[in-house]
Amino acid sequence: MKRRNLFNSLAGRIVTLFLGLLLVVQLAAFMTIRESIDHNARTLLGDQLQLGARVLNRLLDQNAQGLRQGATLLAADFGFRAAVQSGDAETVRLALESQAARIGASVSALLDVKGDLLAVNSSDEAGLRPVLVELAAERQQAGAEQAPLRLVQGQAMQFVVVPMKAPLLIGWVVMGFPLQNALAQDLHALSGLDMVLFSQTAGQAPHLALGTTAVGRVAAMVDDGPGMSEGELDGISVLRLRVDLLPAGAPGGARGSLHAVLFRSIDEAVAPFRRLQASMALITVLAVSIFGVVSVLTARRVTQPVHQLLRASERLGQGDFQTPVPQTGRDDELGELAQAFDGMRTGLATRTEEIRVLAYWDRLTGLPNRAQFEDLLRRELQPGRPVALLMLNLDRLEQVNQVLGRARGDRLLQTAAERLRGVARRLSELPASIDGFVARLAGDEFALLLPGASPARAQWVAQSLVRSFERPVQLDDSVVDLSAGIGIACFPEHAEQADQLMGRALLAMTEAKRRMAGCLVYDPSIDAGSAQTLSLLGELRHALRHGELRLFLQPKLRLADGSLIGAEALVRWQHPTRGLVPPNQFIPFAEETGFIHELTLWVVDEAARVWAQHRAQGLALRLSVNLSAHDLMKADLVARIDARLRHHDVPPSALCLEITESAIASDPQRALQTLHALKTSGYKLSIDDFGAGYTSLGQLVDLPVNELKIDMLFVRTMDTNADKAAMVRFIIGLAHDRRLTVVAEGVENPAILAQLGALGCDEAQGYHISKPLPSGELVEWVRGRWPDRVTPPATAPAGIAAGRDLDASPALHETWRNSANDTPTPA
Ligand code: C2E
Ligand code: CA
Ligand code: CA
Repeated sequence: MKRRNLFNSLAGRIVTLFLGLLLVVQLAAFMTIRESIDHNARTLLGDQLQLGARVLNRLLDQNAQGLRQGATLLAADFGFRAAVQSGDAETVRLALESQAARIGASVSALLDVKGDLLAVNSSDEAGLRPVLVELAAERQQAGAEQAPLRLVQGQAMQFVVVPMKAPLLIGWVVMGFPLQNALAQDLHALSGLDMVLFSQTAGQAPHLALGTTAVGRVAAMVDDGPGMSEGELDGISVLRLRVDLLPAGAPGGARGSLHAVLFRSIDEAVAPFRRLQASMALITVLAVSIFGVVSVLTARRVTQPVHQLLRASERLGQGDFQTPVPQTGRDDELGELAQAFDGMRTGLATRTEEIRVLAYWDRLTGLPNRAQFEDLLRRELQPGRPVALLMLNLDRLEQVNQVLGRARGDRLLQTAAERLRGVARRLSELPASIDGFVARLAGDEFALLLPGASPARAQWVAQSLVRSFERPVQLDDSVVDLSAGIGIACFPEHAEQADQLMGRALLAMTEAKRRMAGCLVYDPSIDAGSAQTLSLLGELRHALRHGELRLFLQPKLRLADGSLIGAEALVRWQHPTRGLVPPNQFIPFAEETGFIHELTLWVVDEAARVWAQHRAQGLALRLSVNLSAHDLMKADLVARIDARLRHHDVPPSALCLEITESAIASDPQRALQTLHALKTSGYKLSIDDFGAGYTSLGQLVDLPVNELKIDMLFVRTMDTNADKAAMVRFIIGLAHDRRLTVVAEGVENPAILAQLGALGCDEAQGYHISKPLPSGELVEWVRGRWPDRVTPPATAPAGIAAGRDLDASPALHETWRNSANDTPTPA
């Protein structure tokens, strides 16, 4: 199973998704709160500053209140009034002085009704006079009590002006004192704000009068102008409010204006909120961690069944159908999936078992099949212990199938299997028991393996098998003799390996059948004859599949005009080590083993392919293909030949099928059926090797054929042997009576050719004309004799390309005659 980490697993994805979402939400909340904290802190700070401004005014008022009371008391003092009215300057001065000292005023003065200064207890009389006169005038105009601020000699001072009446107004008492740092400290205590007070005289830099803090760059703060503003103070952001206590434009402001600046650090104001924010961040981190852990656990819990299923499916993939798929016990989709998986597992187990049975057992007889038998045989072949192998082939299955039908054929096989089993059972019951192992190898082929049995013992068992098979089998109302050929091969005497042992048993069995000997023990002498051919079957199959077969074509001439009319297709085997193997070395064997049918179809296919190729080059030769007796017994022969031709888009008339006399003689009825079917399909038919057999010639010519091919036996020596020549003449007459074309094969010299022409034979084929040529060389061969017969593919005339029969032109005829003379007669 692939190792999965948090990032490529289902659990990881679930966790990541949810954690991500949580983080995004938290982050958004965090940003929003941060924004609103800043905004709110500033608003709050602004409000605080406005409040501070009001507190400042309140404090100034309170200060003035003490002054005012002192001044009012003085103005109402009887002695003082008397002294003023009497003009007692000294008493007045003393009174002013003592009252000022009592209430803590630094300045006390008396002015007359007109506003002229009568007395003042300050050393700086000259500097104060204009201020005092102005204050008195202002008070008179305003008519109400005030506590004006003035800059006197660079010092911020607060004054009160109180009327003195006796009872009519007789003057003004003025008292004043400088503003102290205490004012700023009081303000700070009450509002938490810092404050500085500046004075500014026209054309001069601002001057710090008092303040809670020693502020360096105060000037800039004053320069910023009145109202609320934000700025930097010694590297700290502050919000500040400038309150103009004595604006430059006010009465008395001309000498110097007074400004209070209230301020507070923004960071300080925001700090509590920031702490809140930090706690929130901490909570977020905690929440995310807890959420992360919980979601990892949850995801694991959810995905664990999936992992289990994954492991289960891997086990299934490895073919373990035994371990049950773990069930989650839950009533959800995963639970259902686990159940379905387990259902699949049992289903697979059943089906695998079925497949195993199919692969190792024969359904019809219930016996082990070849695969199982071979496995067992390989296991049984161990040094030091003999093993005997008996191979059986039933004698009449083919006929039973054909005559009585497949169902009865099947019952015959089942009976054979039953008898074999019976013999094996009895063997195991003997004192020296042998556990015989029976199997069905193929159609009518069975095997009995006898572990521990010597050759003599095996022969004895074979004899009892023969006896057991001697009893006829009743198939409904027919009685069939159930005989078999048995071949025996023993380990280690005859072969060391399983394959070889099987091969030798087969060989012995084939030989037993051939000799009709019942049973036969393998002997190297049997092998000598057939070893080569036996190993051939495997090789032949291989040859067919791997393109080792070659098609040769032997030209056929029309004697009337010497024109090329067709060619016979003859197979060769281009063997990788043996070279070009002639057909007589493998055709008989292919016929014996039934492999001939495959081979015939290959030839048909190849011939059709070549024919189509020829047509494209303007050459349309009818190709003769040899059929064997075996082919004629195949019910699907016609359909399969048809299919090959259709595949190459070749008409049936392109082929002539040659059938030997002996092929027809072995089962005339069936052969006749097939011949009729072939003829109906449009194929030309020819009887090959005519005259060589023993069958009545008259019977043969009544077959549905188009052509007779006189056996070489008569033709090859007809020029020297009068009997043979007479036979040829007889056959030609017989054929012409039945309107059949006659072909003479084995034309080995010009004399024979001339003789055949004189006898009216229609066609000739033989080494004198040409030996069989590789199919690819035929065109070359034709071009060498009739240069204009073959057109390059692109320019092939339509008529020729369509495959119409070729008429020989006189020119062609001539060319043939000339070239035939200098064609060397092959050996
Ligand atoms: P066949 O059908 O009678 O074929 C004629 C055989 O005679 C060919 O031998 C051919 O090469 C040979 N022959 C031709 N002209 C002369 C001649 O002037 N003198 C002599 N002495 N022989 C000549 P090949 O090709 O060796 O074939 C031998 C036999 O093998 C064929 O006899 C045929 O029975 C069988 N055979 C060849 N090809 C096939 C095939 O594709 N299918 C089947 N079923 N049998 C084939
Ligand atoms: Ca032939
Ligand atoms: Ca022949």
